[in-house]
Amino acid sequence: MWKCPKCGREFARQDQRHDCGKPATIDEYIGAQDEAVRPRLREVRALLRAALPEAQERMSWSMPTFWQGRNLIHFAASKKHLGLYPGGEATAVFAEALEGYDVSKGTIRIPWDRELPAELIQRIARWCGEAYRK
Ligand SMILES: [Zn+2]
Repeated sequence: MWKCPKCGREFARQDQRHDCGKPATIDEYIGAQDEAVRPRLREVRALLRAALPEAQERMSWSMPTFWQGRNLIHFAASKKHLGLYPGGEATAVFAEALEGYDVSKGTIRIPWDRELPAELIQRIARWCGEAYRK
């Protein structure tokens, strides 16, 4: 057993390569964000969890991710907004419902001072689950 002196994580092999300092789990990721936005991140995680009960939670592309055979949807905290990353097909399908939000191909930005569109987030997540899962 080897413990990385920088991040404190333990590995089977000496000098195991890893994403040192980067959050390894969604809990770590949320814990590393500004305290003010953590409740919002927990909320979006719970919404996705409920919409995608069979998906696994993991970190992918340094973002909290719901995975089922492939990445279904990511979310991430930015300075001014919550980023939701359901992929370009999803943002095209939901373009009308997303009117009024800052959307670019595959990305939805929800300002922190705006209420979470919980029902819409879950609809998009369920769509991703149906369309993308393997
Ligand atoms: Zn380390």
